[in-house]
Amino acid sequence: MTQHNGKVIIITGGASGIGKETALQLSDQGATIVVADYNEDGAKKLAAQIEAAGGTAGAYKVDVSKGDEIKALIDWTVEQYGTLSGIFNNAGIGLVKPFLEMDPESYHRVIDVDQHSVYYGMYYGAKKMVELNVQGTIVNTASIYGSVAAVGSFNYNAAKAAVVMMSKSGALELAEHGIRVVGVAPGFIETPILGDDQAMKDALATQHMRGELIQPEKVASVVTFLFSDAASAVNGTTVAVDDGFLSFKTK
Ligand code: NAD
Repeated sequence: MTQHNGKVIIITGGASGIGKETALQLSDQGATIVVADYNEDGAKKLAAQIEAAGGTAGAYKVDVSKGDEIKALIDWTVEQYGTLSGIFNNAGIGLVKPFLEMDPESYHRVIDVDQHSVYYGMYYGAKKMVELNVQGTIVNTASIYGSVAAVGSFNYNAAKAAVVMMSKSGALELAEHGIRVVGVAPGFIETPILGDDQAMKDALATQHMRGELIQPEKVASVVTFLFSDAASAVNGTTVAVDDGFLSFKTK
């Protein structure tokens, strides 16, 4: 399939998990991918893998919590590949602590990486699209924890709820420029962000209808669709890829 032919799409957090699988699927469908990640080796490895498979991809080292670095990433992408069709603001971290230990550093770190990064990507990305007269698409990674509070996740809950609202608010103001903004809310996805505690992962899996963790490919296929013209009527909303988590009461 080639429905993304000619597009140039930046994926933050592209070296691993959801971002990596999305990079592979979008490039399979013809998009040029900029794998943007703090993990430079991982980004380079994935870009090389895509190129070896006949696609086009570049790697860019970025700390998404820094606005000047996101601006530079967007300028570099356009210099390198001539346009900007989309940006997947996806990089994120978790830092779980009980609320009474949620010191300002732990709070701000997650807000910087998971929330402010999305603002920077939307702001500099949309400005560049308007400058280039591109009717592009922005997809932001939220979470089920943008709607449901979890113990130890005050910082993450706050950041992801903001991402849900920023997707709506951004869509409202960017529609007149033909730019769509959509969120995606993954459930529990089997990626390195979940850590190594198998008992904890098994407990999370029981909160899905199928009783299994969701594979990152399943989020990637929805994001790939959201970037496509077939999703032109999906705007401002956040699409859950949660195997029912937000729809039913767990044990
Ligand atoms: P992951 O750990 O596999 O990938 C995250 C990537 O982001 C890594 O490559 C990491 O190097 C990069 N990254 C982290 N901080 C960065 C920074 N400051 N600058 C640049 N890159 C940075 O995890 P994932 O599950 O693929 O996570 C992707 C997104 O999905 C995150 O926003 C996460 O919050 C969200 N999410 C994940 C789950 C889940 O269960 N895995 C659930 C809901 C939401």
